[in-house]
Amino acid sequence: MSEPAAPAVLEGFPAAEGIAKGTVRRIVWSIPEVAHTVVRARSVDRELERFRAALNDARRQLETLKSETEARLGLVEARIFDPQILMLDDPDVVEGTEGYIAENHLAAARAFDWRMLELKERWSRTSHPMVLDRLNDLADLKLRVLSRLLALPEPWELGPASGVVAVARDLTPSFVATLDTDRVVALATDEGTRTSHWAILARSLQIPAVAGLNGVSSRAKDGQVMVVDGRSGRVVIDPDAREAERFELRRSAILGWSREIAAIAREDAVTLDRTRVVLRANLDLPGEAARALEHGADGVGLFRTEFLVVGRNRAPEEEEQYRAYRSVAETFADHPVLIRTFDLGGDKFPVFLRAPAEENPLLGRRGVRVFPDETALFLTQLRAILRASAHGDVRIMVPLVNTAEEIVSVRRLLRTARDQLRREGVPFSEQVELGAMIETPAAALQARQLAEQADFLSIGTNDLVQYTLAVDRTSTRLAHLFDELHPAVLRQIAMVADAGRRSGVEVSACGEMAARPLGALLLLGLGVEGLSVAWPSLLEIKRLIRRCRMSAVRAAASAALSAPAGCNVRQGLRESLGDLTSPP
Ligand code: PEP
Ligand code: MG
Repeated sequence: MSEPAAPAVLEGFPAAEGIAKGTVRRIVWSIPEVAHTVVRARSVDRELERFRAALNDARRQLETLKSETEARLGLVEARIFDPQILMLDDPDVVEGTEGYIAENHLAAARAFDWRMLELKERWSRTSHPMVLDRLNDLADLKLRVLSRLLALPEPWELGPASGVVAVARDLTPSFVATLDTDRVVALATDEGTRTSHWAILARSLQIPAVAGLNGVSSRAKDGQVMVVDGRSGRVVIDPDAREAERFELRRSAILGWSREIAAIAREDAVTLDRTRVVLRANLDLPGEAARALEHGADGVGLFRTEFLVVGRNRAPEEEEQYRAYRSVAETFADHPVLIRTFDLGGDKFPVFLRAPAEENPLLGRRGVRVFPDETALFLTQLRAILRASAHGDVRIMVPLVNTAEEIVSVRRLLRTARDQLRREGVPFSEQVELGAMIETPAAALQARQLAEQADFLSIGTNDLVQYTLAVDRTSTRLAHLFDELHPAVLRQIAMVADAGRRSGVEVSACGEMAARPLGALLLLGLGVEGLSVAWPSLLEIKRLIRRCRMSAVRAAASAALSAPAGCNVRQGLRESLGDLTSPP
């Protein structure tokens, strides 16, 4: 008898928390080739009508999808469909297609297909990764309209099966928003990242998902068993007995924590030798605040605000922002809420701003560097945050800072916002703190100088690792080189913690490293006072803190600083901290 094949293990980006095992169902939604069909002159009007009817149908479907998503998940999630709805009125889409029908006598389907190809070609020419979501919307809309014009079968049909792991090259927001979560247990894709629109919806629906798996849709076959770990980003095809056991252990640990939510949430994040750790939550959407509170967060350590701009065709009004910030501040009435100003650029750029094509977007106009060019956008945001400060301990955090001067200029804009609100008689707190994220080696090396200008520092390890090691954080091919435990990263973290201690400013960490046991222990051992993690990781990290001894963690971290490489750090920590370091 031949040996059973070894399980295939793939690593991608953790896109939505949770772990599940199910049966693979591959979803192929490539759009079929549309035949080049020309119609007679007298049929042109009929083709134009067919095209308009298809657009109207698409609009009705999208509006229904939007309102159903609002009822199911909330307004923020529902707005994910806005870009597609707006595309239906975009002259580039509509007039472009009508031109091909009226002037070239192309059949409606061919004219639309052709126009969408042109737009795809044009949009993909900019190297901006933000374009990816736009292209994904374009493909979703194209399929929707062509399905009507060509009477295509529903590509998303999953059949009657349950326990399905949906595997695809990429997914769309409309597919995920309408998923039956009783039947689909997990998602796994070749493309996409944590910020893809469909991934945001998967998180809201609490379906475990891993994106950016590079080839999972060709490796996995229908009917195979697959384990999807949305926390670690690990997927196992055809798990053997060892992997199946590992899955069961991890699943029961996570289940166990969820049964203990209420009890653990009430406990303090304090080590065995009585060191108190500030454990806060990262939020991508305001709706997550209630969950974070329920899971015992000591406030919000990173409130990402890009949901207000990404995928939108217009800048968000001050009022809408104020309501979003205020709702989180009110949820955490007794705790700080660190709101990060829009971190635009890199993989996120709203369509309503002119985004210059850049050879290296991650090294381009990003984070605080966008402030000088978009003063009105940021002034409105600062006003909205200040207004929310009347309802809680709201603090402001600025991304991708490199110099003290950048903090000074944000402070200047903050002063303008304050002056305006004061003149208008709008209430706000005078005590709002302004902090800097440490996300580049320049910031880490200058932490002392930054600490003189900032009220607090927060280490964004995702970017700090990316810029220290020169490894694109969104590249699945380079994922094995993206090492948070690289001693060069650890030394910078130690420097920042030291600078904060000497200057009397709080230093916390809010990247993914803080949500992983080894990373969390190292951060604490290197002197970071607070950790901020996505709400599903709060219980695990709090339990870890409560089981560790700070003296041992400090000794292990100090040894890690002189290790030659990340693998030695890992091994050293396992040897010195034993049990604490083995994830369930
Ligand atoms: C980080 O860079 O670690 C961080 C928390 O910010 P983001 O992941 O949003 O870039
Ligand atoms: Mg960052």
